[in-house]
Amino acid sequence: MNEKIGPIEIIMGDNKSRVPFSTSLLIAGQEHSTLIDCGAGQTAFEYMKKEHRVMQIYLTHHHFDHIWGAHLFPEAEKLINHNDVNKISDINEIGKAMGIYAVFRKEEIEKWIESQQNKKWQGKVLGKRTLDVTGSYRYDEEIEMSGVKVSMIHAPGHSEGFCCPYIPDYGILLVGDIDLTTFGPFYGDADSNIDQFIESAKKTLEFDVKYYVTSHQKGMYLKKEYKHQLEKYLLIIERREKKIKQAIHKGDSPQQLVQQDIFYYKKQYERNLIFMKNEILSIAKHLKRLIDHGEPYEDYYEEFITAHNLNRKYMEYSSG
Ligand SMILES: [Zn+2]
Repeated sequence: MNEKIGPIEIIMGDNKSRVPFSTSLLIAGQEHSTLIDCGAGQTAFEYMKKEHRVMQIYLTHHHFDHIWGAHLFPEAEKLINHNDVNKISDINEIGKAMGIYAVFRKEEIEKWIESQQNKKWQGKVLGKRTLDVTGSYRYDEEIEMSGVKVSMIHAPGHSEGFCCPYIPDYGILLVGDIDLTTFGPFYGDADSNIDQFIESAKKTLEFDVKYYVTSHQKGMYLKKEYKHQLEKYLLIIERREKKIKQAIHKGDSPQQLVQQDIFYYKKQYERNLIFMKNEILSIAKHLKRLIDHGEPYEDYYEEFITAHNLNRKYMEYSSG
């Protein structure tokens, strides 16, 4: 069922680790075990509890699909990167980091906060959006996890705090949400950054890695195939940008631009306010990127912000 490399198990989540599930790494030690990310789902959690003594949980970043099961291991220490440590326990900070505050107004924000008390999926309660963590870890330093050396490589872009756990002795890199899915790279939060995403993705090729492990659906790749798939995956960013430029040149208004299925299908986000938020913010990020790269979209960007009533103050987020 699970793949094993030395003392490390790659635990695929329910529904092939599609959101809200994600793949975990479990490091089995002599006395106790360490888990990296904790959103694999009930089947995996039961297995971990039965076969292992999980005493530490390292979280790669604060996104719900990577953390929601951690409260089910009350005896385990829970650690997150230092960028996310304050964020993860404070729903307002999470809302700002996700760009909820950029796209929505008071009443909708309050409703969103309310809904985060008990997040559900297909009618089942998964848990609270926030998590009380025990502490934080630093990036790029060697950390001993149940007898195995791991470095949490900072790889911002998907989110500010995102990182890729690297296990040099076994040639494993958990690339996580550089997930190689057909959806393509996700950078729809206020603390996401497209250019940083690309830079971090390319950096994953620089390590001495045999096994690349993704967080959703795709499982594990050997280096050559990973490199090939990564190139295809990053091209999706350029395709999206081309589509945006074409729509603008065709004369599409900022309202029409968010209905071009650039990220989500229109019928998908009409049912889901968060998808709509992601569509709007992702397009805003592309417009900003085009301007930063010297292209003449300043006026259109201003129109876009006005048309979607965006709160400029919260369009970008950094934990400072
Ligand atoms: Zn994520």
